[in-house]
Formats: sequence, C-alpha cells, structure tokens
Amino acid sequence: MRSPIPDYLAEVLDDCRGDEGGAVADYIPELARADPDRLAIALTTPDGATYCAGDADVEFSIQSMSKPFAYDIALRDSGFEAVLGKIGVEPSGEAFNEISLESSSGRPRNPMINAGAIAAHSLIEGRDAEERTERFRERMSLAADRELQYDEAVYTSELESAYRNMAIGYMLRTHGVLDGDPEDVVRGYIRQCALSVTTRDLSIMAATLANGGVQPVTGRRLSGDRAIRQTLSVMMTCGMYDAAGDWMTTVGIPAKSGVAGGILGALPGQVGIAVLSPRLDVHGNSTRGVQLFERLADDMGLHLMEVPPVGRSVLRGHTLHGDADVIGLQGVIGFAAAEAVVRQVVETELSGGEVILDLTRVHGVSDVARRILLEVVRRLTLHDDKQVSLVDPEGILEDPDAGDGVRPRVLASLDDRGGSPAH
Ligand code: GLN
Repeated sequence: MRSPIPDYLAEVLDDCRGDEGGAVADYIPELARADPDRLAIALTTPDGATYCAGDADVEFSIQSMSKPFAYDIALRDSGFEAVLGKIGVEPSGEAFNEISLESSSGRPRNPMINAGAIAAHSLIEGRDAEERTERFRERMSLAADRELQYDEAVYTSELESAYRNMAIGYMLRTHGVLDGDPEDVVRGYIRQCALSVTTRDLSIMAATLANGGVQPVTGRRLSGDRAIRQTLSVMMTCGMYDAAGDWMTTVGIPAKSGVAGGILGALPGQVGIAVLSPRLDVHGNSTRGVQLFERLADDMGLHLMEVPPVGRSVLRGHTLHGDADVIGLQGVIGFAAAEAVVRQVVETELSGGEVILDLTRVHGVSDVARRILLEVVRRLTLHDDKQVSLVDPEGILEDPDAGDGVRPRVLASLDDRGGSPAH
C-alpha cells in the first residue's frame, strides 16, 4: 500500500499554491533574490518518520527559526539563572526587530525577538562569534542528523546592512545585558541566522523539540526536559511576534517563523512540522506558511488545547481473581488517569484480603501518577490491611517503594500469584 500521508501533504500544498499575497523580505538583499513561488511542507513523528511534499529539499537560511535552538543551547551552556537574568519571557506584542527593552528590568522582553535572540546568542559557550557559531552549527547538525553549513552570501549580505541589529547590540551593551564587544555578538547572531537548512531538516529539528530533546532518528538526547519545556513555552507565547495571540487561537502549536519564509512548529509528544514559502505578511511571517499550519491544525486536530480526555479510558475495570480484587489499567497514566484509579479503588467494595493492580497494558506512567499509585498502595496496605500486588511484567513502575516500609509484591502475570516476585 502507498502511504496516504504524502498524498495528503501534496493536496494541502496544492490548495494554497494559488495565494500570492505578501512579499519576500528585501531588507537583506540576498533574500530578495529568493524564488517567491517555492512551496514545501514536511513533518516528522517522534519515532523518526519524515513525510515531505513540494520543495522540501531546497536549502534556505534558517533566520529567526534559529532563535529557539540558540535559546535552548544558552540555557544548557549558561544555566537558567544567567539566561533568565538577561532575557525575559513576556510576549512583546512588538515587531521582531523592535529597538526596545523591558522598562523595569532593562532586559529584552523575550528570546524570540532580535534583542533577546542577540542576548541568547551571547550566552552560547565560546570566546567569540566564530566559536559560538561553530558550536551552534555542530548542535544543529546533530538535530538535523546531517552536516549543516552556513550560507556565506546570506551572512555577508545581512552584515553589510545590519545597522538596526548593531543598534540593538549597542543598546544591550549599554544596559549591561551584553558584556564584551557588541559587534562581535551581533556578527555571531547574524551568522547563526544564515545557517542553511531544508524544510525536511527543519521538520526533524522541530521533532527533536517535540520529543523532549531526544533526536527522533538517532535517539540521541540533545537537550533536557526543562530546557525544552522552557523553549517551547516561549515559542508558544512569543514565536510569532505581534501575531502570537492570533496564532495561539487559530493554530495552537508552539512555532517560530523566519524571514526567509520558513515556519517550524513543534507539538509536544506528537509531531515536528516545517513549511517554506518566501512571501511574508506584515508581521514578517510567511503568508502561505501560516495558511498551511492553519489547515494542518484544523484537519489533524493538532491544536495544543485539543486533547482527548484521558481519565476514565485507562480503567479496564474491577474483576475478581480467586479471592483477590483486580483493578486493571491501560494506556498512559497521567494525573487525571491516576485520579480515576484512586476513585475506582475508593468506590469499589473490596471483598478479599488482596488487591492487585494490573499494569500489564500500561505503557507509561507520569511522575505524579506514579506517586499517586504508590500512595494508593501504601494506604491500602497500612490503613485497610490489604496485601497489595502489582502485575507489572515490564517494570513500568520501576522500584515501587511506597514509603513507610511498604513494598508491593510484583508479579509477572496474574497467574503468577503465590509464586516468587518477578523482580
Ligand atoms: N536575521 C534576521 C534579522 O535579524 C532574522 C529575522 C527573522 O527571521 N525574523 O533581521
């Protein structure tokens, strides 16, 4: 069978191909030469499958889509305290290149506008622009699983007329947000923006963000959960500049656009998406790119606020197995699901002396759910005088220490009862 997914992507591209609204960025002379009709889309799943349509293998400069990645690297290289001390996390409602700082703190408002991104670039490890951009290039190559290069023509072209970004650099230096030579930092930032990528690369890089920092193809961990959560959060609130609120309500996917016409989006746990179409709207976001995202979000129910209810569906019910009460669970257990289990245990008339939580069909337990389940085990044991066992053949509830000396028996299967513990 032929996969319907690339066909669907091609259809979505065709549907918005006719829209010629907007204009290519021309304040960077090299970008003005881009073919305005280029159109591409790619998506990558957390287990590393990539689907593309259109010009997905054409290279263009990453521009502002480098900002979330540079912020993530800065968080890891310099630590949260240093980064948060220099760059805020509030949406600015201003254009991406606004020359302004938070009046109370003198910090750039967020790392997705140029002022914050220039500051974030300075917090990447390295003595000068060359070392920082080389580190950036190496990290991005790991995320794309391909050796990426800088587009020297785009870099030089932007540098030649970078008066505004230089002004921002000097402003940051005056307020003590940058130490050292502001021109060196701005040069590094501009080079970072000139990294050459394809739409396919970007979807894989976005999937690394969606996947909590684990590169979906190589399985290599490139960032930590906290840094990724922080990065996705500022993408969600600030990634689309002064159109961020509109984007949140219509698309609802943490995203970042670039002036070369790319937009990347990362839906946590689900998918990395990238599109390319060089004509931009008044906010500097790709016109057809925004449409493509709106279409995907609608067709595929990708909005962050649209999540299927998970509570009751994890319960497989209460059965009796000999004289033991068995509570069967399934799927991924998060807070709402764990609460449903608690309620089931509280409301069920437990008849026997033994309670078995059957986790055979559970394939994930969040931290809070784990603590709640272990508290259920502790209370049943100490307050209700039950013997509690877990059927947990894969050790999903690793090291089930319920506290106060309570450790449930762990069985490999329901029929294992009476036998020796599985672990
Ligand atoms: N290099 C560009 C600039 O600083 C990036 C802007 C963008 O992509 N929005 O102006």
